[in-house]
Amino acid sequence: KTFAEPITEPKSKNLVRPYDSLAGTASATILCLTRNQDLSDIVTSIQQLEEQFNNQFGYPYTFLNDEEFSDHFKNEITRLLPIDREVHFGKIDPEMWDMPDSIDPEVFKSKMEQLEDVQHANKASYHNMCRFYSRSFYHHPLLAKYKYIWRVEPNVNFYCKINYDIFQFMEHNNKIYGFVLNLYDSPESVKSLWKSTMNFVKKHPQYLHPNGSYEWLKDNVQKPQNYEITGGYSTCHFWTNFEIINLDFLRSKPYEDYMNFLESEKGFYYERWGDAPVRSLALALFADKSRIHWFRDIGYQHFPYTNCPKSPAGSDRCNGNCQPGSFAPWPSLRSENCLPVWLEHIMTQEELESY
Ligand code: GDP
Ligand code: MN
Repeated sequence: KTFAEPITEPKSKNLVRPYDSLAGTASATILCLTRNQDLSDIVTSIQQLEEQFNNQFGYPYTFLNDEEFSDHFKNEITRLLPIDREVHFGKIDPEMWDMPDSIDPEVFKSKMEQLEDVQHANKASYHNMCRFYSRSFYHHPLLAKYKYIWRVEPNVNFYCKINYDIFQFMEHNNKIYGFVLNLYDSPESVKSLWKSTMNFVKKHPQYLHPNGSYEWLKDNVQKPQNYEITGGYSTCHFWTNFEIINLDFLRSKPYEDYMNFLESEKGFYYERWGDAPVRSLALALFADKSRIHWFRDIGYQHFPYTNCPKSPAGSDRCNGNCQPGSFAPWPSLRSENCLPVWLEHIMTQEELESY
């Protein structure tokens, strides 16, 4: 398969290199949502991102938090980065973050008792976070001036050198979304998401993109256990802890209308809809699939999943930092990988060869 060939970067004629005049000039920021106590974990992520990519391009950082960042947090982050680096720290307004009035806290509590097996379902803050990353973050005033964000979480690893400007790659190749990992989800967390989404689509059939990736969302080759309870959603999704987004897509009418509809369905609280399946459904239905890019070349880990590219012989780009082709530390987790479905059923041969 083409995608098993060694790779250092996308096959694109117009990659912007560190010393090109366009390097670092895209309208873009690296976005980190964290709590004060996540300081050391976000520092390890940033250190690696700087080393592998950003010290050559100098993109600004935006830190967001539902509480005020402490002086300690801000000082340590500022001290970590070059002195001329733009860094913003922002607080998220409660109406963007907190459980909205439409949610009854008692109903929420009892619903979550039934979802006790779903990861983080019992934490209201996790629901807040998923709703925030689905429908609110791109309205934060600190992001108003940017076109692209690269989302980075605490405790992730970047294993390989990136010698081209990722944001300019998005811009010059007309991409709206970049991902590295593609997984199945826990069906219990999104029980009614598919049904709700289909109701939305019935009301707005004009939003469906003719070159969408509908097949990826439907029953496919390898289904997760109990997937039937979703009513037909395969649960495949882009793993959003890494995502590079053209915010114009989120700020578009189909996406905004879809978010308002999902909000009215209350599944961010009465179920545990994740921002990953929500974002993925929106992209698969409303976006041109040729504008969604798998960054096969980016070595990345968020526990427990890894994307580790195979480098050409003699290349020290990944410096032996990860095991090429490895996906998870336990073989039993291999069945969580939905990438083969994306590659085999959604990408054309031509697109595969462009990797
Ligand atoms: P997981 O990867 O799905 O297990 O979730 P994480 O715990 O990594 O949370 C996802 C992202 O949201 C990370 O960037 C966290 O730092 C952030 N996050 C989660 N909960 C909160 C919260 O209550 N407050 C803030 N400020 N950030 C949060
Ligand atoms: Mn995480």
